Amino acid sequence: MKILIVEDEPNIASFEKLELEHEGYTVTLAQTGREALTIFEKSLNDNTEEPFSIVLLDIMLPELNGIEVLRRIRKLSQIPVVLVTARGETFDKVNGLDAGADDYIAKPFAIEELLARIRSVLRRSSSSEAGRANSPSPSQLITFDRLTLNPASYEVFIDQTLVALTKTEFLLLKCLLCHQGEVLSRTEIINEVWGEDHYIDENSVDVYVRYLRTKIDEVFNVSYITTVRGAGYTIRKPSNV
Ligand code: CA
Repeated sequence: MKILIVEDEPNIASFEKLELEHEGYTVTLAQTGREALTIFEKSLNDNTEEPFSIVLLDIMLPELNGIEVLRRIRKLSQIPVVLVTARGETFDKVNGLDAGADDYIAKPFAIEELLARIRSVLRRSSSSEAGRANSPSPSQLITFDRLTLNPASYEVFIDQTLVALTKTEFLLLKCLLCHQGEVLSRTEIINEVWGEDHYIDENSVDVYVRYLRTKIDEVFNVSYITTVRGAGYTIRKPSNV
């Protein structure tokens, strides 16, 4: 299992490398965002080497910061990315997750916590890959009124128009569509979208519902995502249509 660690502080980088190698991972270190992108792009084009399974990405990097590195990685790949923040750093978790991070961890952390996060992210990513491999046929498209969601390609269409969603927005929409007619609590949504061992604020669910409404309901003049006061969210067709 190969890990790319992007960390500009040599002490932290060598600590992480040592501990992860001790756990049996193969570690490649990058000290800057640019170096990380060069290494990562090269790995994508090299079929002779084992590909990276996960990226551990420090946010505060010189020149190109971690969020920007993450955005560029996401243009190329859905590889799991864990963001590393520093204590006291004003970092908007929602921003990081919205840029496509799978999880985040705050420095200083116990190595056990890091290992647990890495395992959890890898577990989620391998189960969604299994889902992807099993669901390429059109019969597995999820449809709802004018919406079509393709779990294999991560694409969402309204009628024939592609709707550009971030990974988290996509997963949230998929979660609601897989439970059509059910009301999901925020906790149920967090467990399904972010994973059970992800300590995410319930307000983040509201934030992402707002993003989805901005990109779908407002643009296409529909109202699919319904707030059920005191209970959570559900997706349903407007009854007056
Ligand atoms: Ca740093």
